Amino acid sequence: MLWSLIKILAFVLGVTALTYGAMELSQIQGEVLITFAGLEMRLGPLELAFALVGMVVLTWVMFKLFGMLVAFLKFLNGDETAVSRYFTRNRVERGYQALTEGMMAVASGEGHLALAKAAKAEKLLDKPELTTLLIAQAAEVAGDQKKAEAAYKLLLTEDRTRFVGIRGLMQQKLAAGDTETALKLAQKAFELKPKHEATQDTLLKLQADSGDWTGARATLAAKAKSGGLPKDVLRRRDAVLALSEAKDLISEDSSIDVQEAAIAANKQSPDLIPAAVMAARAHIAKGKPKLAARVLTKAWTAKPHPDLAAAFAEIEPNETPAQRLKRFNALTKVNPTDPETQMLLAELQIAAEDFPAARRALGSLPEDAPTARVLTLMAAIERGSGSEDQVVRGWLTKALVAPRGPQWICDKCQSIHAEWEPVCQSCGSFDTLSWKAPAKAEFAMPAGTEMLPLIVGAAPSPVGEDEIEAEDISSAEVQK
Ligand SMILES: [Zn+2]
Repeated sequence: MLWSLIKILAFVLGVTALTYGAMELSQIQGEVLITFAGLEMRLGPLELAFALVGMVVLTWVMFKLFGMLVAFLKFLNGDETAVSRYFTRNRVERGYQALTEGMMAVASGEGHLALAKAAKAEKLLDKPELTTLLIAQAAEVAGDQKKAEAAYKLLLTEDRTRFVGIRGLMQQKLAAGDTETALKLAQKAFELKPKHEATQDTLLKLQADSGDWTGARATLAAKAKSGGLPKDVLRRRDAVLALSEAKDLISEDSSIDVQEAAIAANKQSPDLIPAAVMAARAHIAKGKPKLAARVLTKAWTAKPHPDLAAAFAEIEPNETPAQRLKRFNALTKVNPTDPETQMLLAELQIAAEDFPAARRALGSLPEDAPTARVLTLMAAIERGSGSEDQVVRGWLTKALVAPRGPQWICDKCQSIHAEWEPVCQSCGSFDTLSWKAPAKAEFAMPAGTEMLPLIVGAAPSPVGEDEIEAEDISSAEVQK
């Protein structure tokens, strides 16, 4: 409001001043004579003022025209202008559209279409990190491994895309079964992104497969640090790795600190049978049988296991059966109702030739859990007690077709291992072996073996299942 008032006042003042000036100029006498190329001009004072103003305006217009001319010349030279910018935008748009379509094609598994779109996007866009990645993925879908590899290698050249390139190459090597190169690539990927979980897992598996236990433990520690693993799982896995590390080195007749590593593994996970056995053997080798016995007893308390009993026997290899029975009391008094303890005691009694005691030790196992081992022990007891050959043979025959009882079985592929291993020999999984009974009979016997009880004589059976079996077989025979 005030501003417009000031502007009006200024305008009025300006006009008044100009009018006054013009009146003053028109009253001045005299004139200016301009001679130009034979032309004479006589200008009064007022006319001179108008001519000066006209000159200034003309110069300003000249400058403006010159600027426009320069702009036009620049455009002809191919500089960025509104026109060229319009065309570029159109090009980028088409590039992104090709990129989008290429990604869709990858997702729907149309490899060749994806490759075509990727090539188009590459031509239109100046985004090598995007288009090269699309080319790699499209080539993989299309089954063109060489092209994919070349694209991944191109990604390695830039900092931003290096990790993606390494990962792509690593997956390729894994698929091709080149685990050695894959391991190196996994290590590089891990260096770039130590917190990347999938990389940690791949590296850990490759290190375990190749027996690089020290490296695997380092990877495991990094994994735990980034919070990708529950504490108890970490402890168990680390124990497994420490054990494997020690196992490898012990086999090379290595030194005491290596055996100490095995003991450290045992301390971290007292329920781990192989670790306890290894630790005990390390103590025995060091001439410390009491420590070995302690380790084994502790492990037996957690989980009775035949491997522990075998290691316990190694502490005193030359004792008499009676001495052994007495010394093993340390084990047999803990967990006395566990089948493993019952069978161990029966074996010790058989060795000491106290067959009634051996039979008592087995308790109801022959009826409740007639595994091959229990039935074999029964045969030994019958023989020792002076039973007829037919009875002994009967137990042995039953043992032949009986379930094997718990064994080292892979949780993933269910394959059976004679001894504990950190990596499943069948499916290659890490830390999956556990001590358990197979879900089904682990091997199918030819139907003929069921006739064995009839051929070699039946064992005395409290439930009379032999008669049932015999009937079954004879009816099966009739049906044939
Ligand atoms: Zn397996």
